[in-house]
Amino acid sequence: MNGIPHLTFDLDKPGVSRGHLVVPGGADHEELSLPVFSLNKAEGPRLLVTGGCHGNELEGPLVARRLVEWLPKAQTCGRVIVLPVLNPLAVEAWSRNTPLDGLNLNRVFPGRADGSVTERIADAVSRVLLPMADTVFDLHSFGPGWEFPPASTTHPINDPDLMAATIKMAEAFKLPMTLVWEHPGSAGMFDTLAQNQGKVFVCAEFGGGNVSSEGLAIYEAGVRNALVALGLVEGKADYPTFRQQKTSQTLETRRSSDELKAPARGIFEPCCSVLDQVKQGDLIGILYPMDSLTADAIDICAPGACIVYAIRSGAHVEADEGVALVARPLSR
Ligand SMILES: [Zn+2]
Repeated sequence: MNGIPHLTFDLDKPGVSRGHLVVPGGADHEELSLPVFSLNKAEGPRLLVTGGCHGNELEGPLVARRLVEWLPKAQTCGRVIVLPVLNPLAVEAWSRNTPLDGLNLNRVFPGRADGSVTERIADAVSRVLLPMADTVFDLHSFGPGWEFPPASTTHPINDPDLMAATIKMAEAFKLPMTLVWEHPGSAGMFDTLAQNQGKVFVCAEFGGGNVSSEGLAIYEAGVRNALVALGLVEGKADYPTFRQQKTSQTLETRRSSDELKAPARGIFEPCCSVLDQVKQGDLIGILYPMDSLTADAIDICAPGACIVYAIRSGAHVEADEGVALVARPLSR
């Protein structure tokens, strides 16, 4: 280990600052300099926006860059810090995890100063940037191989007040879906670290792995809506148009029971679209085993009344791999 993580500029300086978050080098990799933007307009909400946690989710870094372009003309108060790419090694490799150490950045928070490069990034963000914010927007995408609607997401939080504030913030994005989802393994998540410190943390998600101009416009509108709700920029929030509709719904799901799995290995054909409402027995997709021309195709049907919020697309799947995820309206 050499040096300590630091910023190359003073966050308390008024106005716009552009510089770097320096992640010290270690045995596996030299020092990293992650570009950071800050706009300090004194009193008001303190927001941190991050993208590029997972390297194959590229909407976040692009929307973060757009934010850096228009914030100087729009922000009226408070402080916004934008770090478009948390994990440049993963982004350059278009890989979910860091190729060098194989680690998922979103499972190693708060990180370790003397750890591998992914752990050192988490350590720098946890120690230098997170304390400067009360609200965090972490811009993800659902990743390749799935269809997933533009969404703001959070997880169940024990503190009821923080849960309510987080759902309210997530709904302020006005994206087609607000989702409260259970994660089986949440240890080391950026979300959990921030929430344990009492901060409001919202993840934006957008599926597919193929960056589209329409998708980016919806994603950016969602982030802008959230900034309006925080009072950081002036303007009117509006539901972005998604599939000819301007609506949003708030759903909840349990990852363990609400995942429909492939009954055999083969190619999955989706028979519905995301946000489709289905009832028990409705066809969600068909699994075609490809090992034999005589093996029957297998229908995959809805287990009950639910909403399909994510569906596998364009992938050969193994037996027991997830092919669709379903949810229900959030009970409050
Ligand atoms: Zn992600």
